Amino acid sequence: MLLFTPGPTPVPQNVRNAMAGETIHHRTSEFEAIFEKTRKYLFELFTTDEVVMMASSGTGAMESAVINLCHNTLLNVNSGKFGERFGKIAKAHRLDLVEIKNEWDTPVSVEAVVEAVKANSDIDAVAVQISESAGGLRHPVEELAKAVKEINPEIMIIADGITAVGVERIDVTNIDCLIAGSQKALMLPPGLAILGLSSAAIAKIGKGHGYYFNLASEIKKQRQNTTAYTAATTLIIGLLEVLETIKKEGGFGVLYCNTARRAKATRAALEAIGLHSYPKAPARSMTTIDDKDASKIRSILKEEYGVNVAGGQDHLKGKIFRINQMGLIAPYESIWVVNAIELILHRMGRLKYAGLASKVYNETYFKTALEKK
Ligand SMILES: *Cc1c(COP(=O)(O)O)cnc(C)c1O
Repeated sequence: MLLFTPGPTPVPQNVRNAMAGETIHHRTSEFEAIFEKTRKYLFELFTTDEVVMMASSGTGAMESAVINLCHNTLLNVNSGKFGERFGKIAKAHRLDLVEIKNEWDTPVSVEAVVEAVKANSDIDAVAVQISESAGGLRHPVEELAKAVKEINPEIMIIADGITAVGVERIDVTNIDCLIAGSQKALMLPPGLAILGLSSAAIAKIGKGHGYYFNLASEIKKQRQNTTAYTAATTLIIGLLEVLETIKKEGGFGVLYCNTARRAKATRAALEAIGLHSYPKAPARSMTTIDDKDASKIRSILKEEYGVNVAGGQDHLKGKIFRINQMGLIAPYESIWVVNAIELILHRMGRLKYAGLASKVYNETYFKTALEKK
């Protein structure tokens, strides 16, 4: 079965092997050396002033960011399931909440954020997804962050990059907290979250808030290449292997470039056979198609073509399907996916099969590369 869901993503064989060793104790020089190396790569990936690894799923890092960086009112961008989550976290911690809510295909407008910030001087943090996975949407986070900082540089920008870190280069100039999760673009099993922090964020954190999710205690320990509580040793060993593999394959730039090519080629292939891309601003992390037959296409893909893609949640259940683009994916796997979708549409009587999807995929994916050479 080809796992093409936008999280969890497939774990490469060499990474699974690296994690298959005997359990090592986390308070040893042996593990500290692994931690130090991993941290070094993470600084390169995040390009932030500090990085913190945390044994939790991505949501734990979201909660940690909110409680440590928002002390008054959170302005939350909600265009989907994960945007909604930041709001729920704020409410659970009795923080005041202002929300900009949009349909799941619609990116937030920078003007709306500016207006909201100007209208409420209690807002001390803004939370937003870079890639909102519910609808495969890309929010204009960098522009939004810049505009907010121009109004008040003390407002913290919390960017959920769980389906963006490892997908594309993110300009963190105006971002105070950038969050990643292991099971998405980092090609690991679930259970590890990472936060990249700005110096301004570290200053605001001070002594920190919360207990397990207190970022001050983690920062202090992780600067000494250890963790406040038991580290997710196996996942960190896996993460080091992932980061070394990306390096071996040409580095982060090559990874971003190939991800962009796959996303572009997949979308072009599916549009060529009459399908419609759902988000008004598509993220590169996934290709999201809205279609009346979404459920049927998805189940035939799984049952007969060995491809597992994701469906939609809540009101988009049965209305969309999402194809992952994150991680190291061989183009021939993606070509199989778009070809299988064309075959399914033929069988449904919606078109006459012509091998068009794979042709367009190949042309789009390889053309730019050939032109460059
Ligand atoms: C998956 C995901 C999350 C939640 O992460 P968990 O690991 O499930 O807690 C948050 N934000 C985005 C954008 C995601 O895709």
